[in-house]
Amino acid sequence: TFNTQQLRDMFLYVARKVVESEDFLTEIDLKLGDGDHGFGMALGFKAVKEALEGKKFETVENLFQEVGMTLLDTMGGASGVLFGTVFISGIVGLEPHKEADLPLLAGIYRRSLEALKRRGKAQIGDKTMVDAFEPAVVGLEEAAAKNADLPEGLAMGAECAKKGMEHTRDCVAKFGRAKSYGTKALGLQDAGATSVWIIFQAMSDWAS
Ligand code: ADP
Ligand code: MG
Ligand code: MG
Repeated sequence: TFNTQQLRDMFLYVARKVVESEDFLTEIDLKLGDGDHGFGMALGFKAVKEALEGKKFETVENLFQEVGMTLLDTMGGASGVLFGTVFISGIVGLEPHKEADLPLLAGIYRRSLEALKRRGKAQIGDKTMVDAFEPAVVGLEEAAAKNADLPEGLAMGAECAKKGMEHTRDCVAKFGRAKSYGTKALGLQDAGATSVWIIFQAMSDWAS
């Protein structure tokens, strides 16, 4: 299990990795969108760094709330709302927890995924962040069902997110600007799915 301090450090590491990926994400969104995804993610996660650095969080839920609210306040655009939703909606209605184990994290991200799909209406195969996020959540759940520990579970989540991200190359987009590309989008990877993979890979790298 991770206590709230460790979880905060994990999200600080995630924030650093997202910020470092700005140019990579820009390049991907330029091919298929308007090229602002790297800037938006970097803006949001720089603010997350500032919001978490040197702070103590009483509960896991407070920490997720802070990350999500910070992204909502700073990112803007379609994906600001969607990434904010991911971190906020997973903890709505949960009893406060002082530490997180794999089943708790899997449960939080499962609720996040369902909220994301309700809000954005995207399903798997629509060439969005859902294509990386849904397999990642299933990976966490399968690892939890096998009583894996957190590092193992997060490694599984990252591996599944990566496969899902890569699979977006084979899909035609149903949302956003990428939609107008039609089959010209084939071979190109979705930017939001790439960000989801970066986040899961960073959580796993921090944990292992
Ligand atoms: P914008 O499209 O407003 O320029 P970004 O470039 O920051 O915003 O984010 C684009 C990403 O948002 C896409 O790559 C996709 O993964 C994700 N996205 C867009 N629309 C949806 C949706 N309806 N549901 C889920 N994800 C979506
Ligand atoms: Mg964009
Ligand atoms: Mg835009």
